[in-house]
Amino acid sequence: MSYTYDDQNIFAKILRGEIPNQTVLETEHTLAFNDIQPLAPVHVLVIPKGAYVNHDHFSSEASDAEIADFARATAEVCRIKGVSPGEGGNGFRAISNAGIDAVQEVPHFHLHILGGRPLGRMLSMAK
Ligand code: AMP
Repeated sequence: MSYTYDDQNIFAKILRGEIPNQTVLETEHTLAFNDIQPLAPVHVLVIPKGAYVNHDHFSSEASDAEIADFARATAEVCRIKGVSPGEGGNGFRAISNAGIDAVQEVPHFHLHILGGRPLGRMLSMAK
């Protein structure tokens, strides 16, 4: 696997503090913040602090500590936002776009956490 990380992407700038964000949670290896153009009442982006392009880059090359921290932080975000079914919430959808077919806009791995309203089926049938 070969990925080249562009350190001028907007999330890299957020991580360096060059651009503000609405932080939901910050841990040792992970940052979660509100999406600037929310598609649902809850729309949080969870990103690793490390330089990973997408989900398979992160899953393949991140350390166990980074992966565990990311997973725990994601669960905590769902609890904070009140969408965790295990905590009485109505649920959420976790989406990560990678590459051209998925229309990934920002080349720093991020997980969208969407909720707060019924989200419909996973994919539109429209082509
Ligand atoms: P994707 O298409 O999966 O790469 O999604 C990128 C997401 O980043 C979109 O939902 C954008 O609204 C969001 N986004 C872009 N710039 C910012 C920013 N400065 N702060 C928060 N979210 C952003």
